[in-house]
Amino acid sequence: MKIDVLTLFPEMFLPVIGGSILGRAAEKGIVEIALTDIRDFSNDKHNKADDYPFGGGGGMVMMADPVFGALESVCAQDRKVIYMSPRGKVLDQKKISELSRLDSFVVLCGHYEGMDQRVLDHWDAEEISIGDYVLTGGELPAMVLIDSVVRLLPDVLGNENSALEESIYSGLLEHPQYTKPREYRGMEVPEVLLSGNHQNIALWKFRESLLLTKRRRPDMFEAFVKENHDFSKKEREIVEEIMKIEV
Ligand code: SAM
Repeated sequence: MKIDVLTLFPEMFLPVIGGSILGRAAEKGIVEIALTDIRDFSNDKHNKADDYPFGGGGGMVMMADPVFGALESVCAQDRKVIYMSPRGKVLDQKKISELSRLDSFVVLCGHYEGMDQRVLDHWDAEEISIGDYVLTGGELPAMVLIDSVVRLLPDVLGNENSALEESIYSGLLEHPQYTKPREYRGMEVPEVLLSGNHQNIALWKFRESLLLTKRRRPDMFEAFVKENHDFSKKEREIVEEIMKIEV
């Protein structure tokens, strides 16, 4: 997968795309993340890329011309262009899975008060938000989007199943996790996890996931139980038990 990021602050990405899972994915050649500095396409002698908004109002707006130049340099006309924006639809796992099936896309990061609308109209950019709050720039949102997409690409995570088991992806929040030691400051690991009985462990994880989801995300729990699942008899019993519990 090739991801082009267009930003006024390319240096912000370096520690993130060079380390951990993203860095390893790039080393293995699974993803290429290319950074383009929008200022390099400014015609201004001070590399200015923003100006005052027409019609007044506070703050500055990113000018169309440097952004057009940056988009043209990465051949964006043949590719999906995403603009990180609090006005966009909020990013979720469904959108991330959809993006993970593309061969390439372009991520445009806004700054100041945003972007000249003609950029977004001309390049038919899809606006994506990472939540109902406003950040200073699109760089952190772009990193959130890229990280969540890349970890779904084949061979990126050590264990191919681990993404499937995680919160949200399965339609439920993840069950509690424990590691060594077995006892810590008087607190024990649930006995079933030490039993070696894989079926019982799987049922325990399923029950804990259901319970946590019902408590914390009743909307998600409702959606999960309404879907058609191929539950085993024991799983069905657990679902029915949790449905009756008052949380
Ligand atoms: N004036 C803009 C508005 O009200 O929609 C907000 C501009 S914000 C200070 C600067 C840039 O940060 C935006 O252009 C966008 O690229 C990015 N940004 C801020 N919050 C975001 C969010 N929740 N999701 C995605 N991008 C965001």
